[in-house]
Amino acid sequence: MTTTDVGARTFVATAAGRDLVTSDRFDVINPATGQVLATAPWVLPGQLDEVFAAAAAAGPGWARDEDRRRVAMREAAAVVEARVDELAVILTSEQGKPLNDAKGELGRAVSWLRYYADLEIPREIVRDDDQAFQEVVRRPMGVVAAITPWNVPIGLAMWKIAPALRAGNTIVVKPSPYTPLTTLAVGHLLREVLPPGVLNVVSGPEPLGAALVSHPVPRKVSFTGSTAVGRLVSRAAAEDLKRITLELGGNDPAIILPDVDVNAVAPALFWGSFMNNGQVCLAAKRIYAHRDIYADLADAVAEIAVSVRVGNGLDEGTRLGPINNKPQFERVEMLVEDAMRNGAAARAGGRALDRAGYFFAPTILTGVRDGVKVVDEEQFGPVMPIIAFDHEDDVVERANASEYGLTASVWSADIERAYLIADRLDTGQVSINVHGGGVLPTLPFGGHKASGVGVENGPWGLHGFTELQVISGPPRPRA
Ligand code: NAD
Repeated sequence: MTTTDVGARTFVATAAGRDLVTSDRFDVINPATGQVLATAPWVLPGQLDEVFAAAAAAGPGWARDEDRRRVAMREAAAVVEARVDELAVILTSEQGKPLNDAKGELGRAVSWLRYYADLEIPREIVRDDDQAFQEVVRRPMGVVAAITPWNVPIGLAMWKIAPALRAGNTIVVKPSPYTPLTTLAVGHLLREVLPPGVLNVVSGPEPLGAALVSHPVPRKVSFTGSTAVGRLVSRAAAEDLKRITLELGGNDPAIILPDVDVNAVAPALFWGSFMNNGQVCLAAKRIYAHRDIYADLADAVAEIAVSVRVGNGLDEGTRLGPINNKPQFERVEMLVEDAMRNGAAARAGGRALDRAGYFFAPTILTGVRDGVKVVDEEQFGPVMPIIAFDHEDDVVERANASEYGLTASVWSADIERAYLIADRLDTGQVSINVHGGGVLPTLPFGGHKASGVGVENGPWGLHGFTELQVISGPPRPRA
């Protein structure tokens, strides 16, 4: 499959297990060329009544039969798995990431489906004796509205779809208008195995997302995106007391202690920062390096940055693709220029690449400090600012001095010392000697402070798609 094949395909929205007909379509750009890749259905807010009605109608049947849900989810995993190669070309063409990374994202989406299909949701019996029976049960909420960003489109959609469906909800998913195609294609494929109305996928520019949030039918909004939009979602959902999970921005610090073997940690640190071209909420975005190893570390990561192959994700050997879209590309350019005006030096990169598409050279900045935009704000691009520190207490304070609190990492040869620092960081996850080590289906992922509300993944993530119910009464007759 090639980008031409992607362009030739008609991507459709799914509602009630059928095509949702739209009168218009919008362009999706291939970030590796800056050209139109394909078009996507432009679903209008007024069409959501029909979509949510389909999701609501499917709810009772889907919620009733747990075994059937688990079987259908395993079948869904198999259907996606069988099409990973084809879907990966779509994902790379719309998102920019290298083909292997796209396959990895799809593979993880499959594993999330399987993890939740297998997860037990026990009924918790609090009391069962000759006086009383009391149990706590998790009930599905009903219809879920899910809204996703452009950086990890299908991976993050599956963080919502898998637990929501496992818990017995039905769902309407709205991917980012920058990257709707893979999610639309998966929605279409899963018609084969999921009952009509269980999984619905719509696409369109704003105000479609806002219309999902304010629609009266969904009882829960699961949102991944920026903190600014997260605040809007939170306000709109409050109107009729919808439940929310918000996975928002991050400005994640990595703290490198002076005892590390610089050459050994450099590759892992580099990829902790440049994964998905830095367009990951949890990428290491502020590197606090102890002054003793500061220069050596900057040299080591700069050496990697200049040797990494940047290009079209479909080309063999590409390790880093383009930035996904023009506004984000311009933002990264602005942040790097601002840093340079404020005394930063680019040890590698520092500029856009002179070619079509949204390519920016992997950039290592030294001579930066807290208070400069590229350090204080979420940059979300291929830029690693390295900041020197002298004292442990000071670096902990600086790492925590952010409105965000998504993840952090601590790097040291002294593992116990690293764990003690981890305990002092105000973030949803802290990894030792790796960045983002806790992103697994089994572990809760969520942000402190302005990085989010609630968590995804593991049983904790599933709990976010349920309401607790207590059932109590006289002793239950025994068989
Ligand atoms: P964004 O907030 O601009 O958009 C996210 C989604 O919200 C898109 O689907 C968009 O169409 C939709 N949207 C826009 N306005 C809306 C509104 N008023 N109401 C409802 N929906 C609306 O974010 P983005 O630029 O697509 O993604 C990048 C951001 O996502 C970064 O800040 C990144 O940190 C964050 N992110 C967070 C996580 C996490 O798990 N914490 C993961 C990935 C990305």
